[in-house]
Amino acid sequence: MNRENFGIFKAVIIGAGASGLALAINLSKKYGGENIALIERLDRVGKKLLTTGNGQCNLTNFDCDLSHFHSKTNGFFNEIIEKYGKNAVVSFFEDLGIPIRFDGDKAYPLSKQASSVLDALRFKISSLKTKVLLSAKVIGLNRENGVYNIETDSGEKYMAESVIVAVGGSAQKHLGTDGGSYFLLENFGHKLTKVYPSIVQLKADVKRLKGLKGLKQKVKANALVNGKVVSQTCGDIMFTDYGLSGNVSFYLSSYFAGASACDMEIDFCPELNREELKTLLVKKQRNCSYLTVEHLLQGVMNGKIASAILKNSGVDLALPINSVNLDNVLEIVKNYRIKILGTLGFDTAQVTKGGIDVIDFNPKTLESKLSKNLYAVGEVLDVDGDCGGYNLTWAFSSAFAVSDAI
Ligand SMILES: Cc1cc2nc3c(=O)[nH]c(=O)nc-3n(C[C@H](O)[C@H](O)[C@H](O)COP(=O)(O)OP(=O)(O)OC[C@H]3O[C@@H](n4cnc5c(N)ncnc54)[C@H](O)[C@@H]3O)c2cc1C
Repeated sequence: MNRENFGIFKAVIIGAGASGLALAINLSKKYGGENIALIERLDRVGKKLLTTGNGQCNLTNFDCDLSHFHSKTNGFFNEIIEKYGKNAVVSFFEDLGIPIRFDGDKAYPLSKQASSVLDALRFKISSLKTKVLLSAKVIGLNRENGVYNIETDSGEKYMAESVIVAVGGSAQKHLGTDGGSYFLLENFGHKLTKVYPSIVQLKADVKRLKGLKGLKQKVKANALVNGKVVSQTCGDIMFTDYGLSGNVSFYLSSYFAGASACDMEIDFCPELNREELKTLLVKKQRNCSYLTVEHLLQGVMNGKIASAILKNSGVDLALPINSVNLDNVLEIVKNYRIKILGTLGFDTAQVTKGGIDVIDFNPKTLESKLSKNLYAVGEVLDVDGDCGGYNLTWAFSSAFAVSDAI
């Protein structure tokens, strides 16, 4: 296949991930599938989508407050999220026959199967007769006489009036996103910001908390940067040999990316406030004077974690239960600080924080200010979201903005 076979496409989309697939549908509906090409380096489309939300695909979030989205250029995404946020995402999928249900604030397909979401996208694209080119990595993109020339690693060449770069970021190279495609935009003068792994496990100073590997606890936690609370969340924390995992760590990791002097402040008993917990412990000291301090928090939180944090804070576990100062115990249980030493890398991260600087893009249309009819969507741009469906929301919302603009 070469350029003569196809002529000039109305639009070529590079990358068949979440944003590329949504764009392919909307642009094919608008201009006819035969005029739209979707080029993917892997041997099938949407591989990453299958892994999202632990295979359940957390598509968006009921709480789409703008504070859940981040960029070096604060507020760049506001208009797009406000116009094409959760409602647009939900109705897009319901139109494809995928009913959306909220589990808490998180939106999933009713089936809770990411494969059903991908199938809905794939079958729609196939029905629209969009040209889909697989196992074709785009290695060259330039513009001559108002037309874009696109070249793949197997030497195929295509031409297009408009190009949309939907190549994702640097996280999870086995899913086609190794950070090696930013150059497609850099060649037009776009700049790459610093990039960091986000929604990722945390390296933390847990060496002295021995024997906790694999243990989980429901907690409330604050992210502290330079002693200031920058975010907070509730959920599970899991101890590992390198530090912390679990959805609390994933969520807060986005606030630690690139920052120094980071701590996590953990409330190991979020169900009870200080007073309630104190009342309960006073009663236990009174009724169970035959126990040692080691058993004070038994039944309140994971016993092994309780012993480790008390011991690490200098409490003697062997003393009689009523010899311990309860205010000291309350401080340890409700405000335990763990030093965060960094994050694991892009291999395990779900998302890239940072990307192509959005300063050179129109915030309504995502058209490049440096090259006409060139667009970028999704994670390739310096926009990321919190854990909870916000990154797919950005991928889809940005795609909807561009398909309306072209
Ligand atoms: C394990 C995991 C779980 C996640 N769970 C969730 C979740 O539940 N909810 C949520 O909101 N977000 C989740 N995310 C994040 C979300 O999946 C991404 O933010 C989103 O997929 C980004 O969409 P995108 O279209 O920008 O890029 P991607 O979906 O990454 O797609 C980019 C595509 O471009 C292709 N490509 C790259 N370079 C080229 C090239 N040169 N030529 C041709 N093709 C190319 C890639 O192969 C890839 O298919 C998760 C991510 C991971 C890894």
